[in-house]
Amino acid sequence: MNAEWDGKPYHPISLEYRKRFGGKVVKVPVSIADSCPNREGLKGMKTCIFCDEHGSFAYADTQKESLRNQIELHRAKVASRFNAAKFLVYFQAYTTTFTALNRLKDGFEIALSYPDTVGLVVGTRPDCLSEAVLRTWREYGEKTYVAVEVGVQSFDDDQLSWMRRGHNGAQAIRGIERIAKESGAEVGIHLMFGWPTENDKQIIETARLCNSLPISNVKLHNLHVLANTPLADMYHAGEFQPIDLDLYAHRVALFLDHLDPRIAVHRLAALSNRWDELIAPEWVRHKMRSFQGMIDRINEAGVYQGRSFTSNHQ
Ligand code: SF4
Repeated sequence: MNAEWDGKPYHPISLEYRKRFGGKVVKVPVSIADSCPNREGLKGMKTCIFCDEHGSFAYADTQKESLRNQIELHRAKVASRFNAAKFLVYFQAYTTTFTALNRLKDGFEIALSYPDTVGLVVGTRPDCLSEAVLRTWREYGEKTYVAVEVGVQSFDDDQLSWMRRGHNGAQAIRGIERIAKESGAEVGIHLMFGWPTENDKQIIETARLCNSLPISNVKLHNLHVLANTPLADMYHAGEFQPIDLDLYAHRVALFLDHLDPRIAVHRLAALSNRWDELIAPEWVRHKMRSFQGMIDRINEAGVYQGRSFTSNHQ
């Protein structure tokens, strides 16, 4: 295990932020988009089965506030929670690149007007990337830090189709490569574990694919059931059962074991912020206990990020 990882069995993104910005930096989630290609039914797409009405936004109660209000309100929350004084404004909700380019640029200008903003992070999906958006990121990258977080979830076409993502694995790979090459932004991807057809072999293949892509970070998410989602209907109909903490921790350990240690990790799971929305599984509700439970299981298995990475490449 790397001595720089603050005792964690994985490479924490906080370390990269510390190195780059010379101190603690946290993300301030904001919302400027109000929809996405799926919700608009483009090309016959449907809402992803796991997505709640807020487009996976962390602060649903302030989603309709002006961008300035959101930045100031959310920054105050994360500043006191994480004791940070520098921030990345994270355009999180829905598909940020589905909004008009002028609106996106206005949002960037507002975010950068705060002296303690040290960069921009944009959440999007891999098939919603115009040349103008990529060019804009390149332009902003000349004056500030720009990172893009791509909702990939899985590279497996059957799983992508089951969750109604509206894109396939090859499109995800192409999108990631385009962002890295054409915009120069740092690329991170979001992955979900807990699919009904998931298996160990597939998790290892996913880690190896990540190692081969031009990404610098990953964010892991457990597939959980939120109220008023298609997945909730499936859960109530007995068609879906979320995996338990043991199996999820096993999958995360396997993924980390094979993941290149250069790739930073945002988090190991999305433990619920909005308890009122959570239907299942129950372990997601217990944030600290479940996080520590995962770390304990990974440590007990003697696993750390990249332990099996070298042998992948011999
Ligand atoms: S996950 Fe993203 S693309 Fe899917 S429905 Fe939600 S906002 Fe739209």
